[in-house]
Amino acid sequence: MRADNPRENAPNRIPLPNGRWRRSCTGAMLAAALLVGVAPEANAANPWAQVADPSPGPARVIGEAAAGCISGAQALPDSGQGFLVTKRTRHRFFGHPELVEFIRQLGAKTDQHIGKRLVIGDLGQPRGGPMPNGHRSHQSGLDADIWLWMAPPYRQGENPPEPDEAPSMVSGDDSSVDPGRWGQDQGWLLKQVASNPAVDRIFVNAAIKAALCTEAEGDRGWLAKVRPWWHHRAHLHVRLRCPPGSPTCVSQPPLPAGDGCGSELAWWFSDEAKTPRPPTTPPAEKPLPKECNALVADKKKG
Ligand SMILES: [Zn+2]
Repeated sequence: MRADNPRENAPNRIPLPNGRWRRSCTGAMLAAALLVGVAPEANAANPWAQVADPSPGPARVIGEAAAGCISGAQALPDSGQGFLVTKRTRHRFFGHPELVEFIRQLGAKTDQHIGKRLVIGDLGQPRGGPMPNGHRSHQSGLDADIWLWMAPPYRQGENPPEPDEAPSMVSGDDSSVDPGRWGQDQGWLLKQVASNPAVDRIFVNAAIKAALCTEAEGDRGWLAKVRPWWHHRAHLHVRLRCPPGSPTCVSQPPLPAGDGCGSELAWWFSDEAKTPRPPTTPPAEKPLPKECNALVADKKKG
């Protein structure tokens, strides 16, 4: 049995008719996207995707990951010690300064301990808010996707590589990690992220959580933050806690007690978890806090 309701605290996914799961889009766009793919017009319908820059002023998170926005966000540079950002043309490399600093420090540690570079996927849009495709969360500047595969170290004169697809760490039937790809580096990375007090929770595929449960030695307290979720075979999704100075940031429900390695994890390998739900009813959108409206008014890209 599940110990909590994953729909409440995770990046929402919706089932496709072929039994696979995909990230959900927004409202009416969702139905269209399922039928014809995400149309270019989707961007035009979403003012948040048209904003070019963060708003000035101190950083402030408004709302929550799946219904929120951020003022005073910072851009993560395209590369730094121990990290590089992929798919920059998506313009989703903005976040709260604490998130940007968190990634910089994690990159530096990865460089020192492993000698490889983290590949950073989406953070959020310049002022957060809903995205026209790809994620339901990542709206409040506190979420980031980090690949579990790491890039080789920087070589003099190299153009930063922009790898396209993150390699899956999970076997084809989602029953276990792929021993050809999963190893000590991935376990080290997840423990580093989960052990950081600024981190609220992390989402990964259940097979990855199971591997951590088996491999963890000594302190197991950090495992509680690692939450199983559909998909997430190739990257971890990290969400920071509400930072100081953001009184309107909405915190996530507290995590269930324990390391989450028992019956809660077992549920994810049950028939119930593996049976796709009918793809007919998109999950209801939470309205954005009113404060967010001012952040997109008349701020469209040139
Ligand atoms: Zn994510």
